[in-house]
Order: sequence, then C-alpha cells, then structure tokens
Amino acid sequence: MADARRRIDVSEADALIRGRLAGWGTVRVPLDAAQGEVLREAITAERDQPPFDRVTMDGIAIRHGSFAAGLRTFTVAGTQGAGSPPLPLPDDRACVAIMTGAALPVGADTVVPVERIRRDGTSATIERGYEPSAGQFVHPRASDHRQGATLLTPGTVLGATEMAILTVGGSETVEVARRPAITVVSTGDELVDVGQPLAPTQIRSSNDRAIAAALASRGFLDCDRLHLPDDRTLLGTALDELLAEQDVVILTGGVSMGEFDHVPRVLLALGMELVFHKVLQRPGMPLWFGVSPAGKPVFALPGNPVSSLVCLIRFVAPALVAALGARPRPVPVVRLAGHVRFEPDLTCFMPVTITYGADGECLATPKPTNTSGDFIALGGTDGFVELPRGLSDFAPGYTARFYAW
Ligand code: AMP
Ligand code: MG
Repeated sequence: MADARRRIDVSEADALIRGRLAGWGTVRVPLDAAQGEVLREAITAERDQPPFDRVTMDGIAIRHGSFAAGLRTFTVAGTQGAGSPPLPLPDDRACVAIMTGAALPVGADTVVPVERIRRDGTSATIERGYEPSAGQFVHPRASDHRQGATLLTPGTVLGATEMAILTVGGSETVEVARRPAITVVSTGDELVDVGQPLAPTQIRSSNDRAIAAALASRGFLDCDRLHLPDDRTLLGTALDELLAEQDVVILTGGVSMGEFDHVPRVLLALGMELVFHKVLQRPGMPLWFGVSPAGKPVFALPGNPVSSLVCLIRFVAPALVAALGARPRPVPVVRLAGHVRFEPDLTCFMPVTITYGADGECLATPKPTNTSGDFIALGGTDGFVELPRGLSDFAPGYTARFYAW
C-alpha cells in the first residue's frame, strides 16, 4: 500500500480517484428525462429502418420498365401522402401522385420529381429529355438497418442525435446511470452567504456556488450546499450525518496546515480511509481525497476559490462523469497564444481565454490570477490549461490540455 501522505503527481491523483468511484447504479427514466444522461443499456431497432420503401421526393411513382419502353405520359391513378397505405398501380401506363415520406405504391419502383413533370388533369407527362434512373428517389426498406440491430451502446451520452435515435428503439423509458446525491460543504468561520449581514472581517462564501454551478452544467443537479464553521465537534457531527444520507461529499476549505484546518483530522476520526492528501500542483496542492467506511467518496478541496474550482474541474467532475459509465472522451488540446514561465516543479494550471486562429485552431491566452484567492480574475476566462511538471518555459504554440470551467 502506497503511503497516502506522499505528495503525488496529477495523473496519479486522477487515477486514484477514478479507481475508487464505483458509480451509483442505474435508473429507468422517461425519454423526456434522459437528455444529457449516460445510457446504460443497448438500444435496438424496433423495426427495419426505413420500415417500408420510402419515397424521398414529391412527384409521381411509376414503373421504370414503362419509361424504358418509351412511355412518357402516365395516367394518375390516385394521390398518396405520407402515412397512407400504398396504392396499387392498376396497369403499366399508370402512375400515383406521391409525397415525400410515403410508402412506394405497389408495382411502382421509381419516382419522378414534381419539377420534372407537367400535370394536365389526370395525366402526367415527363419533361422532354429527362431520364429517370431505375429506383431513383426510393429509400429501400431496411437499407439503413434491420429490426433488432444495435443502435446505441451503453456508455453513450444522450445528446440531440441520440434522443432521435432512442425513438427508433420504440420504448417510452430508458435505462440511464443514476446520478449521485451530492452535498457541497463550505467550511470557515469567515464565510457568510449572500443575504446575510457581513462583519468587516467576514467574506461572502463563493466556492460552494461555483462548484454547484460547475456540477449542474455537467448534469449533476442533485447538489445541496451547506456551510459549517471551523469547529471540530460540529464538523464531525454534521459530516457524519451527511455521509449517512449523501452519495458524495465535497468540502472546501480547512484542509491546509492552519490551526483551524480541522477537516482532515475530523474525516479520519469518522473512520475515513485517506487515499491521498496533497498533489504536486499549483493551485490546489492540499487536495484531500478519501473514502468513507461505507465506500462513499469524500473530496476536501483547498479553500482558495481558484484552487477549489480548478480541483473540482480537473479531478472531481471528470471522475464523477466517468463513474456514471460514460465512454471516455479525449481531453481537448489547445495552443498557447502567450508565453508562460513557471519555475516550481509542480503541474501548473493556468486560466486562459480561448480564441480561434485564422486556420480555426484553438488558441489559449494565459490569464494569470494575482493569487489563488483572486477568483474575480477568472471572469471571462474559459477554463485552464494543464502545464506539466518538469518544464518551466512554455512558449507560444505549446500544445496543452484544456479544461473548460
Ligand atoms: P482555507 O483553505 O480554509 O485556509 O481557506 C483559504 C482561503 O480561501 C481563505 O482566505 C478563505 O477565506 C477562503 N475561502 C475558503 N472557503 C471559501 C468559500 N467558500 N468562498 C470564498 N472563499 C473561501
Ligand atoms: Mg478556512
């Protein structure tokens, strides 16, 4: 067992967190509630697609053999719209006036677009010189896929295209990953929520709102906020209760070396297994991660607002998404548009704004904050880049992984 008090690298912290998040099972939801969720079953086709030979143009449906034999004027035997049962062609000289989305009339095999015919009462004449090819403007039954074919596999995130595909599965409900119930706890005697009076030495609590917003934008909507003081006993009781009810607890503040930084000691006293404390990174070095006796993950993020949000975005949010069973997606890379010099042997998370170069390339302009408390400077930034340990000079053009807020 590795020493949990050792300072570890960003990639090791990431792997350790992911290795301890087992997911929260699955739930069947109506399609209306499935958007943005992670699919946890295979979706198969209810029917062939298309389910019938589908006409793809408004026009007339004919037998191509009749055209090949020299016939140019057809008798309109009827008119058929989308959704109606297919009409029969009574004879070789007949056609059916047909609409996009209709089933091909029985005995017809080819569609001549309405723009290429002249209608005169019950007769339709094909434009001189126009040569329809056999089978044109017919989308044959099962040419996209057969009944029972797999359309979507578990791990797919259900976006707009997948919502359309789900309807072809035909079910009113779908099995998706259950989202965890999360509480974000801000700790600190100096913190006051908006709407409450402030003493001169107090500040507004902002981390909990930033974290809840970042989680909500990733689909984690069951997210409460709670504030606790720097009091060992109160912290212990409240966290014990929270761990009984919630699936995930995310704390901010109180994880450093100060005399009132009680969080690590309180968590250990509750029987938590410490997985790691401190990551070789700036901001966010004191990141703490542990697992409760019941296997529930607890993240304790440093209190400085830039640190806490960076840790949430870099480690917590992607690990939660992965634990839902979502298929991994590559982290986007961008090119630095400015020079960054960073001396410490730590991974540097640098806030950036993204613009697009003339060739469409993503360019990241560094926006250093004054300190890791300077969260106002993050306004207008798009996220941050990860600049690895072991290097200190990052020239314009350097390719870095980008994490959006
Ligand atoms: P700590 O990690 O508790 O030592 O806090 C580090 C710094 O972050 C202190 O200046 C705190 O006042 C500040 N801080 C801690 N939690 C929050 C919060 N929820 N919102 C805004 N600032 C915070
Ligand atoms: Mg504090």
